[in-house]
Amino acid sequence: MSTSPISRIPRIGYGWDSHEFQPGVPLKIGGVTLPHHSGLAGHSDGDVLLHALTDALLGAIAAGDIGTYFPPSDPKWKGADSALFVREALRLVDEAGYQIGNLDSTLILAAPKIGPHAEAIQKNVAELLGIEPSRVSIKAKTPEGMGTDNAAIAHVAVLLCEISWP
Ligand code: MG
Repeated sequence: MSTSPISRIPRIGYGWDSHEFQPGVPLKIGGVTLPHHSGLAGHSDGDVLLHALTDALLGAIAAGDIGTYFPPSDPKWKGADSALFVREALRLVDEAGYQIGNLDSTLILAAPKIGPHAEAIQKNVAELLGIEPSRVSIKAKTPEGMGTDNAAIAHVAVLLCEISWP
């Protein structure tokens, strides 16, 4: 790892993702299965929040994106638990000498309401990342005037600090 002063500053990462709703599949957001008549279509389990989080982590260390490591063309990832993608991104973050300071996310979807599940999602994502829930923010909005009622969208920003950061 470079020891130039630039490597000592915190690094920001940002990722976003969208998936279309599909009836008859489980809805997984942040690794939590939510009660709903439709889930998210995708090659893996369609977990839009964990995909955006994976991209944010990889982006923060300039290590490509989720498709670099887990191409949808590879049948290996069909139906995969998206926690796997986050764990690999986290391993690369650790290898680069960084740890997560905090993350902030916004989900945009017409239904179901995220509010009643936000705490469970926050806890699950924090556990997956091995950090306190207070470092994980889960927010949600409805897509007013966007015409995306049949999709779920997730935006995630992360701040990485050096492992030696106090
Ligand atoms: Mg995706």
